[in-house]
Amino acid sequence: MSLAVNGNEIRTAQRNQYVQQFIERQLPRTSTSSRYDSVVIAGNGIGAQVFAAQLAKNPQFEGKVTLVAPAVSESRRLINGVSLRGSAADFLCSALGTDHESLLAVSAGTSSPAPAAYRQTVAAAIPSGNSWHIKSPGTWQGGNWATNPIIYGVRNSRLVAGMRELLADHPISFIEDKVQSADELRSYAEGTRPLLVNATPNPTLFGGESRKPRRLVLAVQAPMIEKKINAPLEVETAFAPIIRRDNIIDVGYFTPFADPLSPRSTWYGILARVVDADSGFHKEHELDVMTDELGGLAESMGLEIDDPSETLARALVPASPWGKVTPSQPGTLDLKRMYSGGAPCYYADGMVSSAIGGVIGAEAVVRGVDADQAIRAALRPFRRHNYLWWIETTKTALFSDYLLRLNPRAAMLYPHTAGLNLWQSAA
Ligand SMILES: Cc1cc2nc3c(=O)[nH]c(=O)nc-3n(C[C@H](O)[C@H](O)[C@H](O)COP(=O)(O)OP(=O)(O)OC[C@H]3O[C@@H](n4cnc5c(N)ncnc54)[C@H](O)[C@@H]3O)c2cc1C
Repeated sequence: MSLAVNGNEIRTAQRNQYVQQFIERQLPRTSTSSRYDSVVIAGNGIGAQVFAAQLAKNPQFEGKVTLVAPAVSESRRLINGVSLRGSAADFLCSALGTDHESLLAVSAGTSSPAPAAYRQTVAAAIPSGNSWHIKSPGTWQGGNWATNPIIYGVRNSRLVAGMRELLADHPISFIEDKVQSADELRSYAEGTRPLLVNATPNPTLFGGESRKPRRLVLAVQAPMIEKKINAPLEVETAFAPIIRRDNIIDVGYFTPFADPLSPRSTWYGILARVVDADSGFHKEHELDVMTDELGGLAESMGLEIDDPSETLARALVPASPWGKVTPSQPGTLDLKRMYSGGAPCYYADGMVSSAIGGVIGAEAVVRGVDADQAIRAALRPFRRHNYLWWIETTKTALFSDYLLRLNPRAAMLYPHTAGLNLWQSAA
């Protein structure tokens, strides 16, 4: 028992050290300091809470950080992202001053066994009558002896509510309100020179115009009960079935999962597809097809969707630009716009971007440097990988599918296997 505790402490120290080194690499220390005496944040998602926690660690902002948002509403339905990268957990835990075990205890209800994948496999999936033919899978990250978690599967609303619980004793004020403007947000600030932060999905909260998204992501996801899993699904392994349909790839992802509100479910599955906004796609038809794909694949691998009427979510969400974004106005930080990049839902990179964006954004504010630039620079590799995945799954879908059928390991070598450190925990 004490050995396990020591082992966890050592790993937590290694993870924290990795995060600190990342911060120092991204933000060399200067003699400048923050020109703000307080920070007030609209929103309470992962990015907002990580940003607040990292800021409040600094004596200058202790007791001067306010989060304003409606209370988190929890339900069994899987509304937002579920696959939390190990590296996201590192940043999140470092900011909150906790460890993976405590984070899993509040978000998954258990850390032993952890709902974790230490390996990732991929294979082409081909419909065959009423069933599925899944080609031989290839491992593209991790392995049988890997010990660093690559992915945890937790319900997003529980994770966000759990983070709030972990922050209960931190010097941060929480206000339940949905603000409509910069002035309204400013009225909640603890100081006279506050930085106003927008961590909500509303890009025009502080005024300005928003551009119509050029691409959208369709997604269907649900928790799953294990009947008796069979190949290619394996314990502690995330599996990505790849389905080419009308020359776009529907990206599937199945991974270990735990949720106190769906205790029978030990797996989770999602199907996601990126479409051009002006392609004339039929939303309900696409979501129906993807719901059938999700259920069919689950059944063929020995899983069953857990109470779909209560848990299954169907979504259409905008993609963000990979390139330049509109800068924040003076005295404000458009935090969510800065850490968002590319197509969400289909590369498990939304939450890691929120977590890293929150940590780097807060440190930039403390050190008095441009937070916009710091966040965009820190997340550049993540946006590049997301962009390449989009090219592979939409622009060169035929070739990607061919390669995946021929040699899945080779197909995923660059950038996905090479990018292991953008996924796995540092320890
Ligand atoms: C179907 C789907 C699947 C996904 N899959 C994955 C995945 O597997 N892995 C992954 O990493 N990511 C995934 N994502 C993306 C991931 O969910 C998001 O990137 C992440 O949760 C965003 O968190 P956030 O911190 O930006 O805040 P959000 O979750 O966007 O929170 C914003 C908060 O702002 C609050 N708010 C809104 N308006 C106001 C206002 N006016 N005033 C005050 N507060 C306000 C809201 O209450 C909300 O809580 C997925 C997303 C979807 C939709």
